[in-house]
Amino acid sequence: MYYSRKQEEPVEDVETSIWACTKDDCICWMRENLSFDEIPVCPICSSSMVKDSKMLPPIA
Ligand SMILES: [Zn+2]
Repeated sequence: MYYSRKQEEPVEDVETSIWACTKDDCICWMRENLSFDEIPVCPICSSSMVKDSKMLPPIA
């Protein structure tokens, strides 16, 4: 009997909506579905945030 070596399926990133800080030197961003405000402000620098998307592993 053979065991085929089980390959760990890599978790595929999915395109996820995020909010990204508009300040150039700030790298802050948050998942859209984890932000509670309709238009959040950056928790680090208080700049406004814009909708963007990012390839992220899905949340289980
Ligand atoms: Zn910021």
